[in-house]
Amino acid sequence: MRIVVLKFGGTSVGKISKIKKVAEIIENYKKKKYKVIVVSSAMSGVTNDLIKKSKEISKNFSDTEYDVLVSSGEQVACSLISGRLNHKGLKSRSWLAWQIPVYTEGFHKNSRIIKINKSKILKYLKEGGTPIIAGFQGINNKDRITTIGRGGSDASAIMLAKFFKAERCVIYTDVEGVYTTDPNKLKKAKKIKEISYEEMLEMASLGAKVMQPVSIQDARLNRIDVEVKSSFVRKSGTLITKKSNITQNKIITGITSTNNDAKITLLGVKDKPGVAASIFKPLSEKSINVDMVVQNISANGKETDLTFTIKSEDLNKTKNLIKDNKKINFRKLVLENGVSKLSIIGVGMVTTPGVTFRMFQTLANKRINIKVISTSEIKISVLIDKKNTKKALVALHKEFKLDK
Ligand code: ADP
Ligand code: ASP
Ligand code: MG
Repeated sequence: MRIVVLKFGGTSVGKISKIKKVAEIIENYKKKKYKVIVVSSAMSGVTNDLIKKSKEISKNFSDTEYDVLVSSGEQVACSLISGRLNHKGLKSRSWLAWQIPVYTEGFHKNSRIIKINKSKILKYLKEGGTPIIAGFQGINNKDRITTIGRGGSDASAIMLAKFFKAERCVIYTDVEGVYTTDPNKLKKAKKIKEISYEEMLEMASLGAKVMQPVSIQDARLNRIDVEVKSSFVRKSGTLITKKSNITQNKIITGITSTNNDAKITLLGVKDKPGVAASIFKPLSEKSINVDMVVQNISANGKETDLTFTIKSEDLNKTKNLIKDNKKINFRKLVLENGVSKLSIIGVGMVTTPGVTFRMFQTLANKRINIKVISTSEIKISVLIDKKNTKKALVALHKEFKLDK
């Protein structure tokens, strides 16, 4: 059986007219004799709206009910797609995760798909049906509904491609593919033809919303090629694939930036074993995600300074947790909102000396101050004032010849 998995994101199903277009795309694959498995997200804005409602109902809305509530948007989109296919004379029906089932494990709001039961869907495909499957959701071993993290229908699609051994997995979205940087932030961004899992994972984790990071991990682990393309225009998109398939390597493949970051510095922390763990333990207990962490070498062997970044929305909570933490001693707490993490990513930097210098010099030429630096083999990230993000993005995009 030649199976293709097609995933449609929120903007691709955001309006009735767009859903009609989606049905045409599906019909075209059917004409090419593919067995088509469709995964849909909720209509754009719906998931955000449901989350807002949960907060209005209660500040302590439970995680289990959160999953029931926010997964409901996908049901609407799936049934509308099926309805349109039926209208065109095609056999189709919607499937919610519990009906298949799609099994997940892990915490509510952030589960991971571990297994998908194939029998009912395979039977339906053999009968000529086109299943429209709700992305983003699953069930756990207690038969409770779960969700798999924001943007999670990308991961639903990739796991379906894995379990059904699909020939292709196509992610349809509102841009033509993966770009050198967010095309909605920088007009000069260029579409990338092919990108390795490693680079895509870094880009996704560092702010390129076009693919959800977990989905790229799943694709990499299972060696699934992923095509990202537009549901609005008929043009070739981007192929996410293994390194050895990539023919052209630039030094830098892409640049990302984040929006809502905040920086926290503890000055004069008593330098003794376990102090960093004592600072971060209460944060992890409250699910506060700590990102960049820098600790200075203690000049006098007694005191050190520790800086880290978190999401702006967690700033107040974090401040209180640190102030109430009896296990740590420090001289001063400095908080800074409105910072942005800018990252350059590319496997080419492993073999090219001087990339770090070029990045720092480019920022220096624009008089942009670097607050924190962190690196891995294939990325360099700097923390800068949020107001300088665009300026830095433009300059670095040009410096590393991504405009070309
Ligand atoms: P969908 O609803 O299809 O899941 P998303 O909104 O999750 O779509 O992702 C698509 C968006 O990702 C684009 O509209 C674009 O603004 C943003 N984006 C951020 N970085 C990039 C990038 N490097 N390449 C392409 N799109 C990007
Ligand atoms: N609808 C979900 C969200 O907005 C899942 C997705 O879009 O992939 O996060
Ligand atoms: Mg998305």
